[in-house]
Formats: sequence, structure tokens, C-alpha cells
Amino acid sequence: MPGNRWTKPQIESLVDQIVHLSKPLPEIDIPGKTRAAINNQRKRLQRTGVLNGSFAGREVKPWTFPELKRLTAFTQDYNFSASFIAQMGLLPGRTKDSISKMMGRHGLGNPAIKERARRACRFDAQRRDEFQRFLLAEGRLLPSMAIARQWGLAQKTVTAYRRRLGIQLSWREARSSDGYRRQQRKRAAAFVAHTRERWKRWRERKKVAWERLRQQLAQRPDCPAVRVCQACGEQWYAAREFYHVRTRRTPAGVKISYCRICRLCRAERRRDPATPPTALDCPHEPARGAIAARA
Ligand SMILES: [Zn+2]
Repeated sequence: MPGNRWTKPQIESLVDQIVHLSKPLPEIDIPGKTRAAINNQRKRLQRTGVLNGSFAGREVKPWTFPELKRLTAFTQDYNFSASFIAQMGLLPGRTKDSISKMMGRHGLGNPAIKERARRACRFDAQRRDEFQRFLLAEGRLLPSMAIARQWGLAQKTVTAYRRRLGIQLSWREARSSDGYRRQQRKRAAAFVAHTRERWKRWRERKKVAWERLRQQLAQRPDCPAVRVCQACGEQWYAAREFYHVRTRRTPAGVKISYCRICRLCRAERRRDPATPPTALDCPHEPARGAIAARA
């Protein structure tokens, strides 16, 4: 629903705050106007050139298909919220607001949270008093998350009230709360998902590069011997690029051995948290005719 029209003094005040006071959006204050309304008006003024370049706005970067795919996975498979995705940097360059908007457009996200956001309303004076009394008395040591659920607020709002009243939970109190532990778990899960995702992409890129290298080597007269990885079965070449190489000095000379599994498989084994690193991660066997000349 559209709000009231902007009055001349309101616009003048806005221009003054942007051009002369160089205020960023969160600090701009126009009584009776929401942040969204201020933002929109600022954009309109910028387009008409009233702001003399004081506010350049930002370029809109269209969402790519892979980004949207990842967003869908984060919200549906991991149940992450927009603020959480932004906070963890899971979609580089995307702010919480842009993620949230995109989730809205594609019907992603937790229905319970969306419903709460839809019902979110500002307290009237009486309700605010009630809430503050609650925070000071029976709610004093309750986790903010529990209070948020009980009063239909965002957890951030509860924390803000607590801060204003000077009754934040101590670090120990907050940490021992269930909500904190749940957040920690969620954060850890996100971290794992994020690393796994990055690792997967690294692996894919690496494999493409290896395939190219394999083709190049195949055409050379000094092409190394083919060596099959005992884990993935790929036919790579007995070369440092593909296999971990161990060199050992012996009285007879330098002994070279190649790992039985390729570097990609080796790295994967070492990364898998389910299997602690063992000697099997890098089983070596002597390369054929591997006694090199005395170094
Ligand atoms: Zn392999």
C-alpha cells in the first residue's frame, strides 16, 4: 500500500541529509517515512539528478542461474535463512536483503518464519510496556530466541530491547541457552556445507585441467607410462602432476615411489571427516625401474 505523498519539506530534508550531511541510508531520518520509502525516494531523486552525484546508487547485478540453484539448495536442503546465508558469505556479493527478496520471488524459505514476518507488527505503547516489564521480570534469564517465539518477534528485536534496557544476558547466560547451541550447530553445518561446496568446485576444475594435460602428454614422444588410480580407476600418467611422489635416498641411489591413488582421490580421502587420516591415504609402491641415478 502506498504511504502518504512526500511533502516539500520532507524532500528538502532528505536532500539535505544526503548531499550536505552525506548520511548513509540507515542514518537518514524523515519522520513518518520508512526506510524503504526513503530508499525509493532517494533513488528517484538520484535519477532526476537532484543529488548532484552525492549518491550514486549501486548497480543491479542480475542473479545467475548457478546462484539461484545454490540459494535453492541452501534454503531447501539446509533450511538456512537469508541473514544466515549473507552472514556466512555463502553467496558472495549478495546482501541479506537481496537474498531475502530472491527467496520471496521463488517461494523459498521457511513458511513459519515467513508467516511470522508477515504478522510482525509494531507494539503499541501499552504492549511495549508489558513487554519491557516481562523482560525485566520473568523473562530476565530466558533465551532471546524463546522470548522471540513467545511474543512473535524477531530475535534481533528482543536483543535490541535488552540492550536498551541495559539487561543483556551475560556471555555465559546467553551461551548456555538452547538457542545459542542451536545457532552454533546451524553455523557449523553451514560451514561444512560451504567448504564441501567449494571443495567440490575445486575438484571439478582440477579434473578438467587434468584431462587437458592428459591429452597434451599423450601426444608427446616422451609421454610417461600410464598409471591407473586404484581408487577412481582413471588412467592418468605416472607423473608428479597426477600422483604424489615420494623420493627416498638409499645407498643404491634415490628411490622413487608413486602413490597408488591419484592426487584427487588422495585429497578426497584426507578431507573426508568420517575417515581419520591413516597410512592408507597415501599407499605407495615403487615405480617401475625407479632406482634413479645417484644424486
Ligand atoms: Zn583417483
